[in-house]
Amino acid sequence: MSIEEQVQGLLRELGQDIHLVVAAKNRTPAEVMECIHAGARIIGENYLQDAERAYQVIGTGPILHFIGRLQRKKIKKIVQLFDMVQTLDNLEMASLINRECLSLDKTMPVLVEVNSGKEVQKTGVMPEEAEGFIKQVSDFEHLKVMGLMTMGPLLADPEEYRPYFRLTRQIFEKIRALRMKGVQMDYLSMGMTDSYRVAIEEGANMVRIGSKIFGPRV
Ligand SMILES: *Cc1c(COP(=O)(O)O)cnc(C)c1O
Repeated sequence: MSIEEQVQGLLRELGQDIHLVVAAKNRTPAEVMECIHAGARIIGENYLQDAERAYQVIGTGPILHFIGRLQRKKIKKIVQLFDMVQTLDNLEMASLINRECLSLDKTMPVLVEVNSGKEVQKTGVMPEEAEGFIKQVSDFEHLKVMGLMTMGPLLADPEEYRPYFRLTRQIFEKIRALRMKGVQMDYLSMGMTDSYRVAIEEGANMVRIGSKIFGPRV
């Protein structure tokens, strides 16, 4: 199937309520462009350089989500280019994003990344720390927490992802019920090529998909 057919098939399968984020890492601007022509609206980029290169070609039509690891020295450009950051997991980055937003008079929607597998050396806040972290982030005037994102451990069988997605959903619901000031828990971003169906069963309303669209990772 072509990239276009894959995207169209996914959009049909996901329907109105589940957002598709095209995970575009290591793909060419032309490949990303095909997704947009097929109707994809949100592009997820892991690397600032890729995003800058793609945007020379694609322009500012699509919505850009940062889904990679945040680095101090890239924050300024990330704030300029992206419409959402899905991988916030520490206060230093929150503070830097807030500062850049202040100078641009912009508010950055963010998802807080949860390390749902509690893995060492994995990004994301620990599940039990998510609530406290979000409370602190909500004090930054130019950040708006819009939900949670998780990756989960790398697993062979999609079914094995279920407990991690379920845990993240529980945290999501709990925080949403608190109705914290300045926090709007709209998005639960979980599930990739192998796991998106399980993620949706567990409540995801945003999935990030790369290889299913483009073919095996390059
Ligand atoms: C690469 C990537 C994806 C997509 O993974 P696939 O298995 O290729 O669908 C989703 N989220 C993040 C953060 C990624 O880096």
